[in-house]
Order: sequence, then C-alpha cells, then structure tokens
Amino acid sequence: MKQTRREFLKTGALSTLFLGTGLVPATRTTKVREQGEAKNVIVLVSDGMSSGTLAMADLMLRRRDGNRSNWIRLYEEGIVSRGLMDMASANRIVTDSSAASSSWGCGHRVNNGSVNIGPNGEIYKPVFSVFREGGKATGLVTTTEITHATPAGFAANVESRSMGEEIARQYLDRRVDVLMGGGNRHFDSEHRSDGTDLYEEYRNHGYDVVKTTSELQEIAGTDNRLLGVFTDGHLPYSLDHEHIAELQKTVPSLAAMTDLALRKLSHYDNGFILQVEGGRVDHAAHGNDAGGLIFDQIAFDKAVGVALAYTEGRDDTLVILTTDHGNANPAFNSAPDEHFDRIAEFTHTNSWIRRGLDAESSLSQIRERVEAATHIGISETDAGIYQKALKGNYSSVYHQMSSHSAALGQIIANHTDVGWTGNSHTADYIELASFGPGSEALNGFIRNTDLFTIMVEAAGLKQYV
Ligand SMILES: [Zn+2]
Repeated sequence: MKQTRREFLKTGALSTLFLGTGLVPATRTTKVREQGEAKNVIVLVSDGMSSGTLAMADLMLRRRDGNRSNWIRLYEEGIVSRGLMDMASANRIVTDSSAASSSWGCGHRVNNGSVNIGPNGEIYKPVFSVFREGGKATGLVTTTEITHATPAGFAANVESRSMGEEIARQYLDRRVDVLMGGGNRHFDSEHRSDGTDLYEEYRNHGYDVVKTTSELQEIAGTDNRLLGVFTDGHLPYSLDHEHIAELQKTVPSLAAMTDLALRKLSHYDNGFILQVEGGRVDHAAHGNDAGGLIFDQIAFDKAVGVALAYTEGRDDTLVILTTDHGNANPAFNSAPDEHFDRIAEFTHTNSWIRRGLDAESSLSQIRERVEAATHIGISETDAGIYQKALKGNYSSVYHQMSSHSAALGQIIANHTDVGWTGNSHTADYIELASFGPGSEALNGFIRNTDLFTIMVEAAGLKQYV
C-alpha cells in the first residue's frame, strides 16, 4: 500500500479541484489505448438508467448551467467505445439488479434475486475475489445500502439479495478495502438478528469505521481499510440532500465518496477495482419521480467527473460507464420547453411529498405539500386523484400505474410533460461507454456476461478465475 507523495498529491489535487463542478478539463489528453493491461478498473453504474434519464440529465445541465454532462461529453468528444448491452438474466428478459450485477460480477447469468449463485446452486467466484487474488485492492461506493444488489454482485455470493447481514459479513471476510454507502442496520448489533457488532469486527481487522461526513474527513489521510456507513437504510435522494442542511452534515455526496475511494485505493501499488453506484436513480424511476431521477443522475455524473479527473493523463485505467437495466423509461414528451425547465425549480422529491401526507390528508394539504416541493400548483381535481391513491382507491387503465407514486408522477407530468411507461425495470438494451485498456472490446452489441471477461482480461487476471 505504497505510493509516492507526489502521486498522492497529484491525484488528490486533481480530484478535489474538479469535485465542486463535476467537470473534467475541456481538453483530455488521455487517448483510448488499443491494447495492454489495465492496472485499475473503475465501473460506474447508474442503477435503472433508461436512455431518457441520461438525456434529461444532460438537457437539465445544459439549460440550467450551460454545461454538458460528463457522460454525454465523452460521446461528443468521440474518445470512448460505445456499445449496447443485453442485460437479460437466467430466468427473465427483464433483469433485476442482483442478476444484472452478477452477470458482470461472475460472468454467468443467474436468476433474478440471486447474487453470484446459479440456478442449480452453482457458486461462482465474484470479480472482486479474482482481483484480490491477483493482488489488487477492491472498493464499493453507493448511494444505496452498501449491501444492496449492485455492489453485492461484485463481491458476494448469496442465494437472495435480501441477505444483507450475510453480505455485510462477506465483505469483511473477503477484505473489501473500501466500502461506503448506507445500511447501518446490517452492521449494528442492535439491528442484526445474530446480535453481532459487525463494526467492532471490522475495526478489529484494521478498518477505519466512520458514520458521518466529518468523521470521513478525519480518516481521509490514513492507509487503513475503510467502512463508511452513513444512514440506516439508503442514502437520501440528491435533491433532498441538497436542500436539507442536516443531511449534508452527516451524509457525503456520491462524488465526495468517489473522490475519497480513489485516493484510498490509489495507495495500492498493484492497482484496484472500484465500483461506484448511483443507486437511487432506480428508486426514483420506480417512484415515477422526475426531480428525484434527474438530480440523482446529475449527482452520479459528478462522480463520473471525479473518475475522469483521476484518469486524466493516465493510460492504465479501464473506465466503464453503464447501467444495469432501464426503468420506467421516462422521457420529456413534446411540449413547450418551459415545462421541462420547471423541474430545475424543484427542491424536494416525490418521496419527500409522500412522507408529509397520509390517507387522511386534505386536498389543500396535498396541494401545499406538492407546491412546497415543486413550485407547481396542481388542480383540485388532480389533488383529489392523489388523495384517492393515498387511500388505495385509485385505479389506472394500465394497472401498473395504479400506485400512489404513479398517480403523483402523472399529476406532476401534467406540468412537466415528463412521462413514464410504467414503474418497473424494462427490457431495453442499455448504454455502455468505456475508455482505457480493454475498452476496444466494448463496442457494438455486448452480452452482459462479456463484461466480466473483458474486465478480467484487461487486468491480466484470467488465471485467477
Ligand atoms: Zn429496481
């Protein structure tokens, strides 16, 4: 775990410099290398990112700030490989996050709900174990619980993604070097069904254990392994996080966690693999929540900016940007541009609106709460529909859209014209952007399991599979 001071300062300074804006320098000097070994691999996953989500985050940044998103800028500059990826699982056309992540995580399709365990009980070696045996460090960063399906797919083997307590233990047993996200309930003795204080066990194995942003800053300079768990469940949506001062004191942004993870992992001489997940993009899509979705995608894009700043001037790092499946396929439908721009004024998510209401809420309470979050004045008729949905009495023509969150999503769409096809994962072939050694194999049409092979081969670790 040694690195020269100069290298550390260089990577640290670069990351910090661009952290605030999430921007990369206008001219990138890194060229796509056609062959050779990847010392490092960085996989950035925006969970549940439909194509429209990527487009709307870019549109929001362009119209509001005059900047492109980092992801689209990579396409614009033409320096990345671009592919479409077929994400089907072993038993379904439409995958869930655990089967999707397992497909890259072990090179096999598994059933939805499983983590690196095949339909007949086959136990597949996760990519982090391959990299670990090859002498490389490993890291997981997410805005969901750290034990959630996507990060787990890189490191764990469990029959069901719901086995968070077991996943938390496997991360320790397998010595994942950097872990940051939510999910206190899977570590804390008060919550764990076996009563174990898993934090204590992590400390006993040399980990720094932190639970707030300021504690995270304190240990930024150590060489220790890191477990950062900042919330009981998932981290808050970025839109709420940005507008609730209390949350900012305790919960770091995805970009800040990514920056710290890269600083920690770059201490290791033999390189590393890091997974960064914008996990709540998926949740916002399930909730038909346009503000939650676009601003979490933007927060994810800032983390992409941190990764790009890290790789600036280096040609030894394979960087992969992708998602695990589409979700609810949102889009801005043809309407005056101002309708889309209304989302820039949002200060809270639909989930925040819901938390302040219940089945007994009056029409005026509903209208006030929606206006407080979005600056949109919804009609009394629409408030009545949402009231019905909160009571469980609302039914849509397409049954999947009968939930209270789908009702609210459509009511707000009457003002933003951001509509949804449903509220669950979709079968769309998904975006895959990459650069660095190994990326030349990631264009065209890819099967999800190919990604495992390409990462392992790019890092020269085939013999450890
Ligand atoms: Zn999902």
